[in-house]
Amino acid sequence: MDPRVVQEKVELVRVSGVGRGIYLFRFRSTLIARSAWPGQFVHLRVDDGSSLTLRRPFSLCQVGRSWFEILFKVVGRGTEIMARKKPGDSLDILGPLGRGFSVGESFSGAAMVAGGMGVAPFPFLIRALRRQGKRVFLFLGAKNQDELYLPDQLTKDVTLSLATEDGSRGFKGLITQLVEKKLRDQKELLGGKWQFFGCGPRAMLARLKELALTYKFSCQVSVETQLGCGMGVCQGCAVPAAPRDETSSPKYHLVCQDGPVFDVSEIDL
Ligand SMILES: Cc1cc2nc3c(=O)[nH]c(=O)nc-3n(C[C@H](O)[C@H](O)[C@H](O)COP(=O)(O)OP(=O)(O)OC[C@H]3O[C@@H](n4cnc5c(N)ncnc54)[C@H](O)[C@@H]3O)c2cc1C
Repeated sequence: MDPRVVQEKVELVRVSGVGRGIYLFRFRSTLIARSAWPGQFVHLRVDDGSSLTLRRPFSLCQVGRSWFEILFKVVGRGTEIMARKKPGDSLDILGPLGRGFSVGESFSGAAMVAGGMGVAPFPFLIRALRRQGKRVFLFLGAKNQDELYLPDQLTKDVTLSLATEDGSRGFKGLITQLVEKKLRDQKELLGGKWQFFGCGPRAMLARLKELALTYKFSCQVSVETQLGCGMGVCQGCAVPAAPRDETSSPKYHLVCQDGPVFDVSEIDL
């Protein structure tokens, strides 16, 4: 395991409700903040003395010198327990874990495509890319406007395009439909100078991969599965690798260790 990964009791210092059942938690931890990279995640023990033994993974959303934030939606037992936590509570956290986004010098602009809580890793990535002077387009989609998470930083530093499935804000439809429309109308998004990044539901990532193949852009995606140990031991988070050819035997990648960020060419979405 990477020696920079730590397991510690971390104090929850700020809780913000940012939408219906959606929370932004800020934790104090210099050790995790210091070695975190955009696209990595932390693994939280949320057990309240009941039967939840497996940790729950959350992307690093924003990171400062001595703190980090996670953005999450309540979807089940673990996140329900988390939503009851208060500033001053401490949680057992392991991190930072996984392989994050690659942000080489080879591209001048970034287009990020987020579905729902898939926006979570992007504020941290946006900050890193803006420091390198790169332009950032953010395509943000959700079911409805209550599920759109839009911190000030996202509206200030990026060119934002919004979509909601019910049309309550922005383009009416799926975020990938809006991306395709922009690819057709705004040819500047094409060519080797742009790097796409995606995070969201699997169907959205699969469509983004199809668009990457059709419009020939390079694209990294952050993949979510249910995780067990988070360190490559239990092998519970295996996802099929993209087959090299029709005769090659099936191979798998571990989301927790080989990912969660992959180039779309590496995995079978
Ligand atoms: C690397 C990584 C980063 C993640 N980052 C975030 C984040 O930043 N914000 C956020 O809100 N969520 C994130 N998730 C998903 C989050 O971990 C799950 O929503 C959470 O574990 C659910 O826990 P629970 O006990 O509340 O729900 P459970 O009771 O465990 O499950 C409730 C429902 O959610 C489904 N589910 C559970 N875990 C996952 C999962 N990992 N992926 C897809 N479906 C799942 C279950 O099948 C079930 O339908 C991330 C997942 C991974 C793997």
